[in-house]
Amino acid sequence: MLFLAEEAERIARSYPHQLSGGQRQRILIAQAIACGPSVVIADEPTASLDPTTQMEILGVFRTLRKNLGLAMIFITHNPALLGGFADRVLVLYAGRIVELGPAEKVLASPRHPYTRSLFQAIPPFLSETHSAHKKKLAAIPGDSLASSLPREGCPFEPRCPERMDVCKSQEPGLVKLSEAHVVSCFRYEGQE
Ligand code: SF4
Repeated sequence: MLFLAEEAERIARSYPHQLSGGQRQRILIAQAIACGPSVVIADEPTASLDPTTQMEILGVFRTLRKNLGLAMIFITHNPALLGGFADRVLVLYAGRIVELGPAEKVLASPRHPYTRSLFQAIPPFLSETHSAHKKKLAAIPGDSLASSLPREGCPFEPRCPERMDVCKSQEPGLVKLSEAHVVSCFRYEGQE
């Protein structure tokens, strides 16, 4: 216990460059939690951390959620982190909701073409075989710069492998696939 107190004292007196990425991240989390929030918005909280530290930080969040009853909005570009962590997943493209649903459904069976393409671009998990790591990663063609977005129609249309004629001129609304699962894509219209 004495060791922990001394370590906390040392860390409190350290400059950021004297701490590891994981330590700096924990300090930020502690600062946020010290305010007694009921909701925490964590924007890319594991970016630039190594996979082991990422898992440790997720563990910290899990414990805080459980012990303090915190609601959390976790923003990430790595959907692989969400399994077993998120309750609901909301996927945005060009500032619009393209898919929203229970995490286990969206992660196991994504419906929107962008969600599917995004998940196919996740690097194979570390436990996979060496040959799996050698496979070329899938990429989504084109880019999402504001200057590349179409003036009308579905914002994902120029990059969508499933686009249809209607996608060029009209923007899809949200289609309800189930009580809690919605998707913004003409492919699902009429299936409500
Ligand atoms: S509306 Fe059309 S372009 Fe947009 S995601 Fe669906 S199929 Fe693709």
